[in-house]
Amino acid sequence: MPELPEVETIQKGLLQIFESINTPIGNVHRSSQSLRFPWPRNFCKEISGQRIVNIYRRAKYLVFETSGQDFICHLGMTGNWRLDENRAITKRPHDHLFIELGHKKVLIYNDVRRFGFFDFVDAGHLELSRWFSHLGPEPLDSETFHAEYLFVNSRKKQTSVKSFIMDQRLVVGIGNIYASEVLFRSGLRPTGKAGRLSRESCQNLVRAIREVLSEAMAQGGTTIKDFRAAGGSKGYFQQKLMVYGRDEQECRVCGSGIRKKRIAGRSTFWCGRCQNR
Ligand SMILES: [Zn+2]
Repeated sequence: MPELPEVETIQKGLLQIFESINTPIGNVHRSSQSLRFPWPRNFCKEISGQRIVNIYRRAKYLVFETSGQDFICHLGMTGNWRLDENRAITKRPHDHLFIELGHKKVLIYNDVRRFGFFDFVDAGHLELSRWFSHLGPEPLDSETFHAEYLFVNSRKKQTSVKSFIMDQRLVVGIGNIYASEVLFRSGLRPTGKAGRLSRESCQNLVRAIREVLSEAMAQGGTTIKDFRAAGGSKGYFQQKLMVYGRDEQECRVCGSGIRKKRIAGRSTFWCGRCQNR
């Protein structure tokens, strides 16, 4: 499932594609299948002919600001984009959207499990949209997301620290992979209660969240199964993972065995020796 670094990598790739081609959107076609939700009414017709003004990321959404109707794309579990460069489109299974661009290029949205979706929004007033109104701050925004914010919001919380930092109402974009990695770097047990976090632990958490997400973005995200950037390249952060997916292997720091357990239904990985707070 793409998390914040993967969505950001795809966003950068898409923006680069639109900037380099720099023509309005041509014809747009879609498959007859619904994604997670039905396609917005007249989706293809509405976006055809529009110029892309900007593409940016908010939480795990791609926001397409256009000269006409703005729209969003959520990648769900397996959504991905690729650029086909010779118009004789090599259709692949699970291709759902075809956006013709200039110079015989076609941008294609593929989604094997169809948990992704598109919708129209007003990019200038995202917070009024039902997809965004409940979302917490961006983890890399130090104005809104900081240690004191985390400390205040964790008081009296009975939930585990891991579930706490994955709650999108608190802070967006931290999914299962990066939650495990962030807790390792903070030295915190994933099962500890959020309500017991000290101010110092909140500081460590905020720092670890920033570092891990920034490093993952610099590596182009994490490719566990099939993640690809919009240009087709893989991410490389999986080579840097300290605990995620490493159960029964040795901790890279202390050598003890990495543990694995399901917390709130999600696989969780940690080192019992390094994460003792
Ligand atoms: Zn360790």
